Amino acid sequence: MKISGFIDSHLHMLGLGYYSSLVDLSQSKSIKDIQSILKNKLAEKIIIGKGWNQDQFIEKRNINKSDLNEVSNEIPIVLTRACGHVMVVNDRMLELANIDETTPQVCGGDFSYSDGIFREKALILIKDKLNRPTKEEIKKYFIKANQILIKNGITSVASDDFLTFDIPFQEIINIIEELYDNNLLQVRITEQVNLPKTKFLEFIKKGFVNKRFNNKFKMGPLKILADGSLGARTAYLSEPYSDDLNNYGINTFSDDELYEMVHLADKNHMDVAIHTIGDEASQQAIDAIKKSLQITKRENHHHALVHAQLTRKDQILEMKKYNIGAIVQPIFINTDIKIIDGRLGNRKSKVYLFKTMDKLLPLGFSTDAPVEPVNPFYNLYSALTYKSLKYPEYPSLNPSQCFTLKEALKAYTGNNLQFVYERKSDLSDYIIIDKDINKTDINKLKDIKVLQTYIDGKLVYSRNKKTL
Ligand SMILES: [Zn+2]
Repeated sequence: MKISGFIDSHLHMLGLGYYSSLVDLSQSKSIKDIQSILKNKLAEKIIIGKGWNQDQFIEKRNINKSDLNEVSNEIPIVLTRACGHVMVVNDRMLELANIDETTPQVCGGDFSYSDGIFREKALILIKDKLNRPTKEEIKKYFIKANQILIKNGITSVASDDFLTFDIPFQEIINIIEELYDNNLLQVRITEQVNLPKTKFLEFIKKGFVNKRFNNKFKMGPLKILADGSLGARTAYLSEPYSDDLNNYGINTFSDDELYEMVHLADKNHMDVAIHTIGDEASQQAIDAIKKSLQITKRENHHHALVHAQLTRKDQILEMKKYNIGAIVQPIFINTDIKIIDGRLGNRKSKVYLFKTMDKLLPLGFSTDAPVEPVNPFYNLYSALTYKSLKYPEYPSLNPSQCFTLKEALKAYTGNNLQFVYERKSDLSDYIIIDKDINKTDINKLKDIKVLQTYIDGKLVYSRNKKTL
């Protein structure tokens, strides 16, 4: 069956390519398993792995640095847990990072020198010491991400890549342009410009605002992070966390600082896409946009909140008034379903109001990959059921918010055009899937396979012939 290519309106291409190039430990059922996988990688200069989970280990204990030292004392080894918030490293890596028994702990995190285990903000001690990737590696990551996307039927993305590594934004732009010139990228990219203020001023000065580099690659909105995440209890809430009564989460900016960034973009005719998860962060963002629009009087803007998981009904009405859109990820339910009760208690029915938003606001779907899988059919399942593929034992988070297939497909295609600054009439992007999606049972949606992907009318992926 032929359907429109999917548009993912918020993900991290560079992060996706990088993440998928790491040694995958997610299927490991024991520490022994992990050791044998690592032993096959001893030709590398450094081994970076991801996805381990001690709950799956037959040894019934955490992995620690002695387990890694047994594999190698010469090659640094860094393994991130499935959640992304914990790492284990070997002695060689500790040495490279200049960490010993006397190293002070980091605020907002902790580490154990004897176990080689690092948590939360302490990860920075290791991350800072990992080499920044070379130009060739960055290219490889983009190419890899491009392959993953077209294989999944995604033909266009809004991608946030400037802060993935400590690399000047112009270098990233040059690399992407070069890849297109050499025909190594096919997916359309609208860059979500994630930059701190000083760099953003440079970006404006160099004339990059809304710049189109070719018919597939352009600069999009300024991406701003206003708070953290629900899992880490850093989403900024108006009421404290139900499982941590003194904690309201963390706001990244003061009201004035946030307004300053928003207005800087807005007065330069550039939109903003603001990461807000908690309702208080959403309020800050709405207020900042509102205040700026009162001055700029821009009418055809596409300002949006990204995530908006805990945005309340009264806030949605306020968003409607100022035509602020929402870029949301139903697939987050996949992981969050397990923690929502604890974090939010009886506020549970007032979150993820995506269907309410869809009726009132410009709303588009995305995955935030590599945070969640990029597969659009998983995301559609979440939108249609508000259930989790990972934890199927949990009932629907909020049945009244479930989308119909038609609504969900629209949020994933037509609605998303505005967030990638395209018009349907200019695109000839479509995919061929192996089933009639309209007749597929909801529980089987996740099994739909993409047979072919066409961008600009050209075949760019075929399941039988590999990538063209
Ligand atoms: Zn993101």
